[in-house]
Amino acid sequence: MDISDLASRLSSGRLFHAYIVTGADADTRERAGKLIAQAAVCQAEHGVPCGVCRDCVKAKKNIHPDIETVRREKDAANLTVDVMRALRARAAVLPNEAGRGVHIIAEADLMNPQAQNAMLKVLEEPPSHAVFVLLADNPQMLLETVRSRCESVVLTPEEAVLDQKITDIAAELMGAYLRMDDLGLVKAVRPMDKLTKTESFDLVTALRRDALRRSAELTGGRRERLLETLDTADGMVFANMKGNLLGGYLVSRLCNI
Ligand SMILES: [Zn+2]
Repeated sequence: MDISDLASRLSSGRLFHAYIVTGADADTRERAGKLIAQAAVCQAEHGVPCGVCRDCVKAKKNIHPDIETVRREKDAANLTVDVMRALRARAAVLPNEAGRGVHIIAEADLMNPQAQNAMLKVLEEPPSHAVFVLLADNPQMLLETVRSRCESVVLTPEEAVLDQKITDIAAELMGAYLRMDDLGLVKAVRPMDKLTKTESFDLVTALRRDALRRSAELTGGRRERLLETLDTADGMVFANMKGNLLGGYLVSRLCNI
């Protein structure tokens, strides 16, 4: 699954006490971990994470007091038993603000055997308010007993890396759309004049990817409006529409005036 599949699974399914996130690259696994954490602290009863409640907002800004990421100490080759014991002690304490406390363990596959045993003890009897998210590049390094107690999230690698120029234009455009900044939109589409047909296709792909990634921020039908616009834009590129006309179309559809 990719991040958007995980988002829909979280919003429609129940939450588990422990997850193990594998596949893709470290950045993508961290993003998946954060999404699970946000879903766990979200106040909404259904469709978590809602993206707008106090806890979601703090989670997105990485300032939620009940979400922590545990990492190995600098220069240490492994996650040691001391780190895991400290985690266990913190996990036993009630969360400050949210209904749950989330503990993301980065590079969980680097837990040494003692650390894994400490982790196993926590997973065997997890505090009712705690959620653990183990991120792992090599899950086979983890004890079977640890793995079997976690809900598995296997991420597929991200699509082909797009050209930096394209992702920059997409980021500008998406930023302006999220801020409802019409003038920003006009500015963001300007470099589209010079795009080739392939680059224009890539731009639409990049925008669609961003739209799915940032679903939670695109509320009030704005996500659907964007995705519909991109479907039409795809057709326009296919019909050899020039970049400046395509940019004009995007502005006309996405502006708020
Ligand atoms: Zn929420």
